[in-house]
This record gives sequence, C-alpha cells and structure tokens, in this order.
Amino acid sequence: MAAPPNAFSSELQKWIYNRSVGSIFFITIGPKASAINALIALMNKVETVPAEKRAAELDLRGQNCTGVVVEEADDHLKILTCAHLMQHVFKSSEPLSLKDACSLFSVRVLCDHYEQSFRGQSRIRARVYAPASMIGIDCEKDLLLLHVYRPDIKNLGRRCTNSHQGLILSPTPPEAFDKCAMISWPPGLPRTAVEGSISHPSRTVRDLELVNTVGYTMNLTQVVIASEKGSSGAPLLDGNGRIIGLLHGGFGGQFTYFISHADIGCFLRRHHVVHGI
Ligand SMILES: [Zn+2]
Repeated sequence: MAAPPNAFSSELQKWIYNRSVGSIFFITIGPKASAINALIALMNKVETVPAEKRAAELDLRGQNCTGVVVEEADDHLKILTCAHLMQHVFKSSEPLSLKDACSLFSVRVLCDHYEQSFRGQSRIRARVYAPASMIGIDCEKDLLLLHVYRPDIKNLGRRCTNSHQGLILSPTPPEAFDKCAMISWPPGLPRTAVEGSISHPSRTVRDLELVNTVGYTMNLTQVVIASEKGSSGAPLLDGNGRIIGLLHGGFGGQFTYFISHADIGCFLRRHHVVHGI
C-alpha cells in the first residue's frame, strides 16, 4: 500500500514537473568549422572575452544550455533559450544579426524522451541530435528562439512521437515571496528539478552593479534558487506551470537571475509566438 500523502509530498511541484519535463530540451551551440576566421575577427572586435580565453570559444564541440518549448505544431517546435553562449561575438552596440548568427554557429537539440531511451540501452554509443535553426535573436535581452522540424526529433532510431507541449508565459509577472520551480538540463544532468522563491521580480542590470561588458539591458528577476552554468536558458515556472522567467545566470552569490517576464513577453510577441499570452 502506498504511503499516505503528507506535507513533504510536494504534490504541486510534482504535477508541474510531470507536465513540463517533456518540454525541456538540451541545446548545443557550436562554431561552424567554416566560420573560424570570421569568429576570431569578431571576438577581437567586440572584446567581450579576455584575449587569453578566446581560443576556447572556437572548440567545435560547442557549449550547452537548456531550452523550453514555447510552441508545438504538427510539423515543428519553437524553443526559447538564452543567446549568451554566443556573447563572445556580440555586444549591445554591435549586435549579431540573425543572418550572421546562422552563418557562424550550428545549433543541435535533444529531447528528454531521447535521453531517457538512450540511458535505457547500451547498443547505441553516441546520441544523435536534431538540427535546429535560429529564427529570432535579441542580443541585448539575452534571448534566442529556435525552430526544429518535428520529423527531425528522434527517439533513438525512430521518430519521437511523444508530446513536447509548448509552455505558455504567465499572464501576470511574479511577485516577491512567490514560490517557483525550475527544471533544467546541465550537461549529463537531465531532469534537474529545483524549487525556490522570488526575491525581487525585476531588477535592472544597473541595480545589480554587474560587470556588463556585453551591455545587457533586460530586467532580471532575482530568485533564491540553485543553478549552475548549463542551466542557462531554463524556464522559471509558477504554480500553474507557466513561464515567469528564463535563466540568465548566477553570479556566485545566493541569488540566481532570470530574464524578466516582461522582456520574454516582448520577445515572443515580436516573433509571433502568441499562444497563451
Ligand atoms: Zn521527444
């Protein structure tokens, strides 16, 4: 007989987790081999990364972040994530155009169903990612929108037929002391589930006195919640499982900072992702 529910059961958090986990994607953004010289020239021009660290940015294996599905259709998905994996080649005064981003970087994604199947077998040694296209970028607000053709999303050798439900933006911004949850996918750590609470809904970058070589202008929601580097781009969720922020970064203190609800709403509307807003 199952144990009776109790105050430690976290039923709401588990409901949010179960309805959202299939919408979380692992994302790899890497330089195209043909673009190395152009990337070196851009890094030297914008100088957002110290000279001694620029070579590491050219690793063809790329870097990883987390993304969340914001639109699911029969033939495609749209995935929202952060743009800062490319911040070594842009700053607000010299933003990267969508055309240039597409010519310099390749993006690949993996769904949670694939990862679970992959971990349940030993025959296939390497994961096969789905190619994604960048269809929207806002360098100042650290936001990136991806498009993936539905047939390209595999579950090992077969097409993934599971749902990747588009999560919707909350109609209202969060308030101080609201509880919240996050599911992220740092490298090797799918389904990382944490909960926290809102400390301040909308700080300015200036308020936080951040080192801001890029010149970011979005507002940041200050949250008491655990995070790590590969969690960037993960959605912050309210008690209805709706998006209230997107992870920008932690800065070594007790808070994690999320791109604000208002900035996400503007970006999604500009790119005609209007479902639920
Ligand atoms: Zn899937």
